[in-house]
Amino acid sequence: MYYFRLRGIGVSPGIALGEVLLTERVIFTERKESISPHKVEEELKRLKKAIKRTRGQLTQIKEQIKEKMGEEYSFIFEAHLLILEGKSLHANFEKIIKEENCRAEWALSRVHDKYDKLFESLKDEYFKQRKSDITDVLARVYRNLESVDRKREDEGIEKILVSHELLPSEAAVKLSKGNVLAVALDMGGQTSHTAILARSLDVPAVVGLHNISQKVKNGDTLIVDGTAGEVLVNPPLAIRKEFLSKKQKYNDYRKELRKTAKLSSLTLDDVSFSPLANIELPEEVNLALSLGAEGIGLFRSEFIYFQSTSLPSEEDHFSIYSRIAKEAYPHPVYIRTVDVGGEKNLPQLKIEKEPNPALGLRAIRFSLRDKDLFKIQLRAILRASIHKNVKILFPMITEIEEVEEVKLLLREVKDGLKTKRIKFDEKIPLGVMIEVPAAAAITDLLVKEVDYLSIGTNDLIQYYLAVDRSNEFVSYLYKPLHPSVLRLLKFIIETANREGKEITVCGEMAADPLSAIALLGLGLKKFSMNPIFIPRIKKALRSVEHKTVKRVIQKAMTLRTAQEIEECIIENILAKHPKAFLMGQVI
Ligand code: PEP
Ligand code: MG
Repeated sequence: MYYFRLRGIGVSPGIALGEVLLTERVIFTERKESISPHKVEEELKRLKKAIKRTRGQLTQIKEQIKEKMGEEYSFIFEAHLLILEGKSLHANFEKIIKEENCRAEWALSRVHDKYDKLFESLKDEYFKQRKSDITDVLARVYRNLESVDRKREDEGIEKILVSHELLPSEAAVKLSKGNVLAVALDMGGQTSHTAILARSLDVPAVVGLHNISQKVKNGDTLIVDGTAGEVLVNPPLAIRKEFLSKKQKYNDYRKELRKTAKLSSLTLDDVSFSPLANIELPEEVNLALSLGAEGIGLFRSEFIYFQSTSLPSEEDHFSIYSRIAKEAYPHPVYIRTVDVGGEKNLPQLKIEKEPNPALGLRAIRFSLRDKDLFKIQLRAILRASIHKNVKILFPMITEIEEVEEVKLLLREVKDGLKTKRIKFDEKIPLGVMIEVPAAAAITDLLVKEVDYLSIGTNDLIQYYLAVDRSNEFVSYLYKPLHPSVLRLLKFIIETANREGKEITVCGEMAADPLSAIALLGLGLKKFSMNPIFIPRIKKALRSVEHKTVKRVIQKAMTLRTAQEIEECIIENILAKHPKAFLMGQVI
């Protein structure tokens, strides 16, 4: 059998070896089948029946998933039920069937096409991926137009699921059965619901493989390496052996790592630190807590806008914030107000095209221009703060005036709530992101205005070093350990500590063991990151002595280049704890 490798995006870590199971997908018809006008009523009835059946199935899946995996996953199916009940969707079907005298399959195909084009035209990856939820619902109705039940695919046999796209409802049902070893898909990205489900269920997954569903057939042998983002098709024996030993090592390491979730967050010399989680969806809270997160250090609230084509209402915002606050309680939740604009241009916000979006109308700049939208969000955050575990965080602050303006607005919204006797946390902590170099330079002034600071190293480094964070041609210059970056971070962290104000790092830098050590040495105690990296950072920080790290970083700060600094940390700390760090690179 012919052996080849495919590269994709690893969205759920781990390695699996097994046989391919190609999933069948609904192909919406491209052929219009006409009916005579007197059959239209009958056709509408057939469609209604299919919708009713779909409703029944979705409700049943929702209940099953709730029972097996918990409430947070059944939420996806609530969303599907809402899509199914959409009035305009039904009206669209009816209109097409009546006007075109056609079969319901054609009406579904036309509506699916319309949504497909709409979502494809969107630039944002996350938003684009919500398309699969609509396809999922429409495909289910389409299938239900057939009166016979389809036979079930190879139930009970452990297989590697290969598909063009795995719709969220299929993913939840198939992955929760426990007989899927791994997933390999043509489509998808990090933030798809399928990726999130795979991560939560510990099923290795590689997506974005373009055409794997056409390149393999049932029965082929696959190795899916969700950590490296690679799929090997029909590998020879020697390679299988190599991967099986890698898998063993990985599994042992993971087991050991996960044990750290229950251990205290203390360095060897008993200095405490807090691992926190950056999340984009409420579904991630429980996973984060199970991996050892001591709170949600960053909720990127702009992801709410990616869920729908219309603007979210205050209730939409509120239900998400209060759900996160409730599930994370008593741990803190830092809700960042929307960071839209720039390259995250959402059609419903009608932001003009800008010549230089990274330096344009982004984040707080956008919120302060569109104050009505901003007040809706502030009101929802305040209402979700009744249990006193919610904090507000403002992104991309450049100058003090912005903080003053934000405070005035917040006062106004608070007064409005009081008048209506709506409860909220009057002392809700207020913080700003330090991600613009100008804000970093005035940390001493900004810190006096707020309750805490959060350093967004992703943006701070890109603006400070003038290196686009997503441009592969200059990525060699993107160095978190550049002496200039460390000097700046030292100033910010020491200033906040001196003022007795809380300080967090919520950029990717906090998830890298070497950089996290450097940050600890600079006096940082709160590290917020993608939840899957928490165990490795916790293990790394638990393996070192705070006072040694401090001394080494002081020495490293006198060096001239990022390379010299890195070598100094490796030589003086990492090399002394090979187990904690070498393995730390695996996940
Ligand atoms: C950052 O800039 O470091 C950050 C956490 O914000 P985002 O990645 O959402 O821009
Ligand atoms: Mg940022």
